[in-house]
Amino acid sequence: MAPAGLACFDFDWSLIDTDSDRFVIEYLSPVLRHKLDTSPMQWTDLQNECLKEYHGQGGTGDKIRESLTKIPLDNNMIQACRLLYSKGWVLAIVSDANQVYIEGILEHYGIRNLFSAIITNPAFWDAQDRLHIQRLIPADGTPHGCPTGVCSLNICKGQEVDKLLLQLGNDNQAGIPVELSGKPAPAPRMLYVGDGRNDYCPALRMKSLQDIYFVRKGRSLEKYLNKTDVSGIREAIYARIVYWDKADEILSELQSAL
Ligand SMILES: [Mg+2]
Ligand SMILES: [Zn+2]
Repeated sequence: MAPAGLACFDFDWSLIDTDSDRFVIEYLSPVLRHKLDTSPMQWTDLQNECLKEYHGQGGTGDKIRESLTKIPLDNNMIQACRLLYSKGWVLAIVSDANQVYIEGILEHYGIRNLFSAIITNPAFWDAQDRLHIQRLIPADGTPHGCPTGVCSLNICKGQEVDKLLLQLGNDNQAGIPVELSGKPAPAPRMLYVGDGRNDYCPALRMKSLQDIYFVRKGRSLEKYLNKTDVSGIREAIYARIVYWDKADEILSELQSAL
């Protein structure tokens, strides 16, 4: 059976109520926290560097895993995910955090099984229990070349959503979804939950007012959408925009919209 739709979630400040990279480092070490705020290094590389330093100073993997259990995730967001899943939606995370943090946090809250895909930076534990984090697109890899100017070097969330849509057997961007039968299939409904500027690019894949773009209030995505010195930013979004502050607003919106 075709899925009811594709629900994509950014992770930091969207699915969870904090920035996981920052939260973990602050939990581990005040010194490294200072480094986060002052180093000019690319963000993913900086996470890896901080974790290397932490391990070098005798820091344990257990404390990192413990920090993941302290990450705040609103129960209403969990209910929203469960509702989407129960209605036949495919759930995916598209995030500039990393695989180990996201998996660990979802497992802690017992909702890992709800998500079909986690698109993010790779991470792994080595034999010494040191956590390594890598860029999804390596420094020496082919650049994504996204023209929007909002995507970070290591990930274009829009292109990742394109791949998810192709896996679902549809291509929203080309507007010519095709089923195996050769008959056009309706483009899947989409929703996207985000808070940051890099959550703008994937929202360009939503083509209908049936689609819902949940934009968190008071953060960089809201400011970007409402920029007045550059024209056409808001106009390029075809989805219905719902500004939200707390997860209960998403839950109640979904309860009436699904
Ligand atoms: Mg975010
Ligand atoms: Zn992009």
